[in-house]
Amino acid sequence: MTILVAGGSGLVGSAIVRELNRLNQEVIGVSSKDVDLLDRDKTFEFIKDLKPTAIIDSAAKVGGIGGNNSYPVEFLSQNLQIQSNLMDAAHAAKVSKFVFLGSSCIYPRDCAQPIKEEYLLTGELEQTNSAYAVAKIAGIELVKSYRKEYGYKWISVMPTNMYGSNDNFDLENGHVLPVLIRKFIEAKRSGNGQVILWGSGAPLREFMHVDDFAKAVVFCMDKYDDSKQINVGSGQEVSIKDLAGKISKAVGFSGEISWDANKPDGTMRKVLDSSKIANLGWKPLISLDQGIASTVEWYLQNK
Ligand code: GDP
Repeated sequence: MTILVAGGSGLVGSAIVRELNRLNQEVIGVSSKDVDLLDRDKTFEFIKDLKPTAIIDSAAKVGGIGGNNSYPVEFLSQNLQIQSNLMDAAHAAKVSKFVFLGSSCIYPRDCAQPIKEEYLLTGELEQTNSAYAVAKIAGIELVKSYRKEYGYKWISVMPTNMYGSNDNFDLENGHVLPVLIRKFIEAKRSGNGQVILWGSGAPLREFMHVDDFAKAVVFCMDKYDDSKQINVGSGQEVSIKDLAGKISKAVGFSGEISWDANKPDGTMRKVLDSSKIANLGWKPLISLDQGIASTVEWYLQNK
């Protein structure tokens, strides 16, 4: 009864490993140091030897708006390879359960809000992350195809913007929440009175603590069985400007915040409609303020 978590040392994978350990499940988390999922032969060999009962695929090339915008080739090509290698290897080893994880950026840039699962492929994608989004949409289609052709109970789960322990705090490639924590802490430490943030501060984003998402993934493994992807959001939507206010307060930074208009805003709003998973009985537990406080604490202890 081994559950394999691919991408097990990243933000999402490490949270899922913690949650499965908490539930006393037999779980193995692997990172690229253990097996290179870009290597098709090695991936097949690894899955054949391990024979997991289920695979949770949180392995991906991920990043914030800067990384996605600068490296579309890597985000498209590597993600297509990783997910196809893993699913094909799972099929070769007859793994009956597979959970593919994506992102809310798969939905059209200008679709109605909150975003329902049905809006997939109804309009143009946001251009700053279209390469990543297309790879994830291909992954959803591959899950659907494996279900149709071979009858597996595989599923796709789409989270909103996440944050938490083991996040990527890289200033150029990380997502906004961890990067702002780092920028404010470094500015406070160095006595620099000014922090420069990207875009206008006007875009709205929905943030979910990764520990809530880990519980949702385990919940979906048990309770969800459909070819359509399922949304997982927190309903906690905030403007980037207000997020900056919350983080600077949590960190104790009292200097000036300025906005670099040469950096992209990305999509102006993406909040998920999570009523499907809510109706099945799941809800998030961690408030944005609590989550920011614990992530600041994690950064101070670990970085
Ligand atoms: P997105 O949700 O795919 O757009 O990814 P991000 O989390 O990287 O960015 C969210 C929003 O935060 C965008 O509107 C960015 O312009 C804005 N933002 C403001 N300052 C920063 C920053 O220092 N880093 C990042 N990554 N985003 C920032």
